[in-house]
Amino acid sequence: MPDFHHVDVLPLGPDATAYRRLDLPPGEVIRAAGRTFLEIDPAVLTALVRESVHDIQHYLRPSHLAQLRAIVDDPEASPNDRFVATDLLRNACVSAGGVLPMCQDTGTAIVAFLDRTLRSLGTSACPPYHLAVVVGGMSAEYTLKVAKLASARYLDTLPSQGSELGHAFRDHDLEKQVLEMTAQFGIGAQFGGKYFCHDVRVVRLPRHGASLPVGIAVSCSADRQAKAKITPEGVFLEQLERDPAQYLPEVTGEGLSDEVVRVDLNRPMAEIRAQLSALPVKTRLSLSGPLVVARDIAHAKIAERLDAGEPMPGYLRDHPVYYAGPAKTPEGYASGSFGPTTAGRMDSYVAQFQAAGGSLVMLAKGNRSRQVTDSCRDHGGFYLGSIGGPAARLAQDCIRKVEVLEYPELGMEAVWKIEVEDFPAFVVVDDKGNDFFAGVSEPTLQIGFRRS
Ligand code: SF4
Repeated sequence: MPDFHHVDVLPLGPDATAYRRLDLPPGEVIRAAGRTFLEIDPAVLTALVRESVHDIQHYLRPSHLAQLRAIVDDPEASPNDRFVATDLLRNACVSAGGVLPMCQDTGTAIVAFLDRTLRSLGTSACPPYHLAVVVGGMSAEYTLKVAKLASARYLDTLPSQGSELGHAFRDHDLEKQVLEMTAQFGIGAQFGGKYFCHDVRVVRLPRHGASLPVGIAVSCSADRQAKAKITPEGVFLEQLERDPAQYLPEVTGEGLSDEVVRVDLNRPMAEIRAQLSALPVKTRLSLSGPLVVARDIAHAKIAERLDAGEPMPGYLRDHPVYYAGPAKTPEGYASGSFGPTTAGRMDSYVAQFQAAGGSLVMLAKGNRSRQVTDSCRDHGGFYLGSIGGPAARLAQDCIRKVEVLEYPELGMEAVWKIEVEDFPAFVVVDDKGNDFFAGVSEPTLQIGFRRS
């Protein structure tokens, strides 16, 4: 009979996380069947989750903030990398006020497969990312679960060597190679540069001889992670940073990008488009004036109207369209957190809308498909990239007025009109068929996988 050995698949090292103790009863230690249990009141779990969700909505880890600050201080970072990092730091400061959540959207993405996949993920989940790659696993589901844990930095203390018993380990060599590869994509922290990722974790798992699942997870700029634990001594939650302002650079805003072009959105669309037509892709813009906000359901409804022979609504002809939806407006504020949503979901409407004279200037986050670039070339359209992530700062500093234009019954999916001031954006697709992301979508470098 062969020897049987049991090994913990994820053998973590000591936990160096800084926790704060919550004012909640830890539960009762019970001994039964020779074992010790902690009996926890379900109300304690509810209270712990409520406190955790509040904290991760408004505060970030000090290590994440320090990484954003390191981008600002890095002479090799591109001006656009530094601009995005500074904006995300400012967003952290607004959100730490405890009123506006740092982002109104949902967070972490889990995707599967490496170089080409990461390029196609592009900026749709708001880099700079904490990237986790898991190679191996006893099932695809387990691989993705471990990828999620790794992107939350829960597995940082795994050993750096495997063993014949088959526990997980971190592959630091491959982490370095993947980080270098992502720095060369050219995507950077959203609009060109090297900071596509803050850091990379590669976890290798045992696997069946006949299958090799690979999982990739990213934690986005709204890096909402916090560890919690309940012990006989108490209920504890990871200590997040309440004072992110200490990470802001002393000189902010000015001089971060080579050129900032002010665009007055109060002018007729023909004039706005003529101004944009003279600018190369990647140009940083500062938008002021009216924008129309419409996203998925509003697009579907307008497409139905066009299909029925009705004309394009005047608001989509006369104003640029921002793909977004606001979070609830707190008392005393002009707007709730109001960041861009991923543009790709609206791609299939663009050719039809532009042919009907609408959506000629679009504003959102993430990359677009070839059909959007072609449509912009054919109809004289533009796609502007808004920085994904700093939804609280946009609400506080850039959005002056919000009103419903149509479909109020759709709630945050209604068509809105907003007034913006110094709203940051970048030219991503122009009217000549240029697309900033097209140049960064092809693999340039092979990763040398180690044989083990
Ligand atoms: S909008 Fe961007 S920053 Fe906000 S949760 Fe989604 S991916 Fe993260």
